[in-house]
Amino acid sequence: MSIPSKYRDETVRYLRRDVMIKFAEMADAAAKEGVRLIIRSATRNFDSQKQIWENKWKGLTILEDGSKASDIKDEFLRAKKILLYSSMPGTSRHHWGTDVDINSFENSWFAGGEGARLYAWMESNASQYGFCQVYGPINSFRKHGYQEEKWHWSYLPIAQRIQEEAAKK
Ligand SMILES: [Zn+2]
Repeated sequence: MSIPSKYRDETVRYLRRDVMIKFAEMADAAAKEGVRLIIRSATRNFDSQKQIWENKWKGLTILEDGSKASDIKDEFLRAKKILLYSSMPGTSRHHWGTDVDINSFENSWFAGGEGARLYAWMESNASQYGFCQVYGPINSFRKHGYQEEKWHWSYLPIAQRIQEEAAKK
C-alpha cells in the first residue's frame, strides 16, 4: 500500500500493508514523545535498485565516504566498494516491502541532537513493534556484511520468513 504522507517525505512510496500498520503504530507512539519518524526510502523494485547501483558504478553518485567508485578501475574491487553500502539489484532487502530507511542517510545525523534522541527512542522501543536495525555496527558480534546503517530498519516478523525462503533456493 502507499505510505500515508504523514509518515514519509514528499515522495510517494510503498510498503506491505501489514508492515505499514505496525510502522504507523510505532510512529504514532514516537510522535507522542516528540520523536518524528520519517520514511525516506521503502520498497524499491529491481529497476530502482539497478539505478542506484549504476549511478554509483558510473560515478554519478558520490559514495558515502566521499569517493567515486568509477575511480577504481578494477571492476571486482569497484563492486566490492559499492557493496559496503548498496546491494546488487535483485538482492536488496528493500525489494521485500518490509524494510525502511528513516530520517537521514548519514550515521552522523543520529549521533547528536534530534537524531540521537530519535535513535535512542528506536533502540528502546522499535523491537516492541517488530522493527530491528539489521545493519548494526561491524564488531566482534557482526564481523561481515554492510557497514552500519542507523537509518535502515526491518520488520522482522515478515522479513525473517522471506529470508528463510530465499535461503532455501
Ligand atoms: Zn536501507
